[in-house]
Amino acid sequence: MTIFHCSECGEALTLVLTPLPAVPEPPPFERPRPGARGPEATIPRGHYAIETEPWGAPYEPYPDDEEGPAQRRAGWMSDMRGLLRSAGPRGNIVLNPEDALDLIILVDASMGCCGGPSGTQGLNRACRCGQPVATLAADCTTVYELHLDADSVRADTTAS
Ligand SMILES: [Zn+2]
Ligand SMILES: [Zn+2]
Repeated sequence: MTIFHCSECGEALTLVLTPLPAVPEPPPFERPRPGARGPEATIPRGHYAIETEPWGAPYEPYPDDEEGPAQRRAGWMSDMRGLLRSAGPRGNIVLNPEDALDLIILVDASMGCCGGPSGTQGLNRACRCGQPVATLAADCTTVYELHLDADSVRADTTAS
């Protein structure tokens, strides 16, 4: 049983969460969550999992002979340099966005077309003290996940 706190001010950022062994496959896009066009949350309520691969900004070009999605559970991304892949941090703490406490919305140029940001522009949610702590992905074109930045939060684990 773990609660994640802001490393800057110590404020609790999440409800009490139980770890999953890995980030599960997201629900199918054909089954949207109520009130949105995007899919249901990747992580069930009350849980979290660690993303072991790079996730989020910045993105870098794939080497010439390689190709693939921008990151796990994502579509392909490209710019004038060609196909892109995440060169972002490893070890993000992935949770259901509904399990986060009040976070401040930061300006995010990746604002998607409907449900929220696509989450490709870096941290877009802050603790109430102002410390950026998380990236929300919530648009219809992407998964519905909140990623806590491992370097900006502290895990308090208690025996259940
Ligand atoms: Zn804080
Ligand atoms: Zn959309």
